[in-house]
Amino acid sequence: MDKEIRKMYEGEALKRCLECGDVILYGRPDKKFCSQHCRNEFNNRKRVDSRHIRERIRRHLDKNYAILDKLIRIGVDTLALTELSSLGYDPSYVTSYHKNGRWNEFGCYDITFLKTPTRIFHLMRVEIIHHDFGDDTEEAGEAEIGEG
Ligand SMILES: [Zn+2]
Repeated sequence: MDKEIRKMYEGEALKRCLECGDVILYGRPDKKFCSQHCRNEFNNRKRVDSRHIRERIRRHLDKNYAILDKLIRIGVDTLALTELSSLGYDPSYVTSYHKNGRWNEFGCYDITFLKTPTRIFHLMRVEIIHHDFGDDTEEAGEAEIGEG
């Protein structure tokens, strides 16, 4: 920045582009970027960050699901939280939470369990009920239940 411009900014905080950090020399006082290019770069990165965050959460959920799913298949109904975490389960990733009476019920997709400070129990797979509103679909649904 040359001396003239620096003088213009003396005494006030320099506004800087959120993307490249260059001083914003002109434009509206609330201007955040030095150029359209920087605005685009910034917004693109934000979109990518958001996608990465969602992918990371999905990976954690999928891993948790695989662990719970296996436990159900081998007939485990209750397990200490320490054992669960030693399997790689991360309790901070769930897809649902309900207060079930005095219990805290958590869900990972179609698997639910109750959780105390030390263990999980009542580990089970729930039936996901789809609400269909078309007449044909409803009849088909009833027919399926009749057969089962
Ligand atoms: Zn910039």
